[in-house]
Amino acid sequence: MYPTLLERLKSRGYRLTAQRRVVAEVLTGENMHLTADEVLERAEAILPEVSRATVYSTLQQFSDLGEVRELQLDGRSKRYDPNVQPAHHHLVCEGCGQVFDVAHGETAPVLGEHDRHGMSISTAEIVYRGCCVDCQQ
Ligand SMILES: [Zn+2]
Ligand SMILES: [Zn+2]
Repeated sequence: MYPTLLERLKSRGYRLTAQRRVVAEVLTGENMHLTADEVLERAEAILPEVSRATVYSTLQQFSDLGEVRELQLDGRSKRYDPNVQPAHHHLVCEGCGQVFDVAHGETAPVLGEHDRHGMSISTAEIVYRGCCVDCQQ
């Protein structure tokens, strides 16, 4: 199993205040793609004194550290994905906004010399959009 966000932060010696720890705890699990407001809501349920400013700045720090991936999936709010490993793509319902992880296949498009314009490629992400079973009803 891949280490959780909290385990990764601990192992890199990140200073965990009570508030930051709660944010990391909230961002644990599979198919985790919460907006900042959803993180705040869940963090407040555990630690009522947690502040909006702290939740937002903590998310920014986690993202700057590369421990959380910021996703812009549905043109609404940014979402935060703590499962940076394994790398994965996303499947998004355009109706209700729910998000599923999609395992990396061998099907990721490969850029040829000409299309790379001399760049070395570090990452590529694909967002599949559609309409989920519930929204099709
Ligand atoms: Zn839907
Ligand atoms: Zn994801």
